[in-house]
Amino acid sequence: MTTTVHGYPRIGPDRELKRACEGYWAGRIPAGELDAVAARLRRGVWTELSAAGIDEIPSNTFSYYDHMLDTAVLFGAVPERFAGAAGGAEGREAELRTYFAMARGSGDAPPLEMTKWFDTNYHYLVPELSPTTRPRLAGTKPLSEFTQAKGLGIPTHPVLVGPLTFLLLAKPAAGAPEGWRPLDLLDELIPCYAELLAQLSAAGAAVVQLDEPVLATDDGRAEVAALERAYSALGGLADRPELLVSTYFGAIGPGALDALKRTPVERIGLDLVSGPESVADIAAVSGLGDKTLVAGVVDGRNVWRCDIAAALSSLGALLGLAGRVTVSTSCSLLHVPIDLAGETGLDPVLRERLAFARQKVDEVVLLGRALSGGGDALAAELDRARAAAPAPASFRDPRVRARLDALGDTPARVGRDAGDGQVLRTTTIGSFPQTADVRRARADHRAGRITTGEYERRMRAEIDRVIALQEDIGLDVLVHGEPERNDMVQYFAERLSGFATTRGGWVQSYGSRCVRPPILYGDVSRPEPLTVDWITYAQSRTDRPVKGMLTGPVTMLAWSFVRDDQPLGDTARQVALALRDEIADLERAGIRHVQVDEAALRELLPLRGDRHAAYLDWAIAAFRLATSGAAASTTVHTHMCYSEFGRIVGAIEALGADVTSVEAARSHMELVGDLAGAGYRRGIGPGVYDIHSPRVPSVAEIEAALRSALSAVEPHRLWVNPDCGLKTRDYAQAEPALRNMVEAARRVRADL
Ligand code: GLN
Ligand code: ZN
Repeated sequence: MTTTVHGYPRIGPDRELKRACEGYWAGRIPAGELDAVAARLRRGVWTELSAAGIDEIPSNTFSYYDHMLDTAVLFGAVPERFAGAAGGAEGREAELRTYFAMARGSGDAPPLEMTKWFDTNYHYLVPELSPTTRPRLAGTKPLSEFTQAKGLGIPTHPVLVGPLTFLLLAKPAAGAPEGWRPLDLLDELIPCYAELLAQLSAAGAAVVQLDEPVLATDDGRAEVAALERAYSALGGLADRPELLVSTYFGAIGPGALDALKRTPVERIGLDLVSGPESVADIAAVSGLGDKTLVAGVVDGRNVWRCDIAAALSSLGALLGLAGRVTVSTSCSLLHVPIDLAGETGLDPVLRERLAFARQKVDEVVLLGRALSGGGDALAAELDRARAAAPAPASFRDPRVRARLDALGDTPARVGRDAGDGQVLRTTTIGSFPQTADVRRARADHRAGRITTGEYERRMRAEIDRVIALQEDIGLDVLVHGEPERNDMVQYFAERLSGFATTRGGWVQSYGSRCVRPPILYGDVSRPEPLTVDWITYAQSRTDRPVKGMLTGPVTMLAWSFVRDDQPLGDTARQVALALRDEIADLERAGIRHVQVDEAALRELLPLRGDRHAAYLDWAIAAFRLATSGAAASTTVHTHMCYSEFGRIVGAIEALGADVTSVEAARSHMELVGDLAGAGYRRGIGPGVYDIHSPRVPSVAEIEAALRSALSAVEPHRLWVNPDCGLKTRDYAQAEPALRNMVEAARRVRADL
């Protein structure tokens, strides 16, 4: 019985990678120093896993920004527009500049599109491929990381994004012929993998892990033939390490499993947490023969302690179905915080129930020892591990449950026709740049260095500034700028009962951006109003309408670690009830626009189509519960951080919001047409520029985007806004961008 993990957080225990990358981007540290920080972080992970007793330690799970971007660069898929990104630099400096340009844009070259990694809150960069892309092994990252670990005396198994996942997650570059698919490059890509495997083998790698999470999706499941072709080819190589094809985020189904079984790969990794039906699938294909099953039984996505007894019994059931069983996490531990040890501020009753990455490693090791038959000391340890107490009564709130029962199902609010004569109204998504002063004020207040009175004075001064700036820019519907919020979920979690927040539980969201997801452990309620004071203050400073800003129930769940002792829909209703009360209070205070952000509605969509309807049912019901109490005279906005609506376009109408703003800049307004085509008749604010990039969009560019949107939507339904909040930008970027946006709207209006 051996043990492994599919991957480990790469940001460093103290977010060292964030600081180093941001220092490098700002020109404060040279490439050499960035590389040195990265090497130290990798060493830290390997030595930690090795000291904990993990048998098979992964390498190449590190990334400066994103592993899909790494893979694109590794195989030479660098779009033409980045050719000049190195700007005369050479060697390593040129490499890094090109790499980060693909992630963040440079000059006039927009970055690669960024999108969610499956149903997680991690984002990857979407490789752009075309029939003229000639895949080649263009990099040495997996090899050099393997060699670094080997130099430290730690044998590792390099982890690669598998060819199917790489190609199915890539998109056709602009200009690729209709009907051409990145998967068409499979036969050209296989030899590149083969070359890499040969190099790794020559360097001493005994096993290579190829990650194929795409097999948990409908798209992946539809490509069983390609899967078999790819792994028969790689498996058939003479000169190669053992291959582990690792899948996660759901079951892959008997079809793909059987196909993998037919190939010569030695090991298959399955996620038994999000795809417990895999056990039946293995039986359905009459076991895995002499292949090794890498059994993902410790949840890599959530923070609850593993139910050791249950894991042991499912592992026990698998022993006869494969040649060998390796205990693992369900997926990479990238998605959970690093260590619980520092979280001394948590309620001990809750803390006792939690496991972060470091603790999950111990759970894997413990399970491995238990299955190998340990002695008495182990028995005692197992007993302790088993004894995770049931949730105490103090985690429940009978009043919330009674109110929800009384409310039952709520219909969508009757949408207001936005045709009140105004066209192309300009607004923003909520947050304004968080200046050093604002962050300092929050930190000082948290640490008790300034009084609450002083803190509120500073926040009000910031709101004054942001309101005055918006009036000066000429925006129509204003916001208070969210200076009091560290994070759109955390802010609410800190004020709602039933949530706990961590001190240092950081998880990578994209690039150097990390979030600290709260832990939703008990029944949710609102002890007092959450936002009313700030919003009414902002409204008191202007005659233009100010939009109240709330985070919706689905997003509160999506970006938290959520209790798993009741259906998500029940938990969402509790959050929705608190928001419903908040909206009533905002209306009473005279606020006429309320935005309920559902940034993550699409993200929680199950990976498999047959599960969508059940999810959308509860997600829509929760949004309606939150908003259906609002008066007809209130404009309810919602905002979503993505643009691939394909499967939820109907749901957006069903939410019943008057205005929906979405991320569209990177997909050139296609979705306005999609929404119109699907019968969406309410207001729409397709993001007219990409706030994820520091680039300032020109008036002409925004104008063109608006004109193209107008081909699919009437002017009174078109709202003009950036594609997300501005908090991650500087004023130097945000202000000119907004001025250009307002000017573009003015020009388009003038031509109507
Ligand atoms: N209102 C939030 C903001 O502007 C929305 C952010 C988001 O959707 N991610 O920051
Ligand atoms: Zn957004």
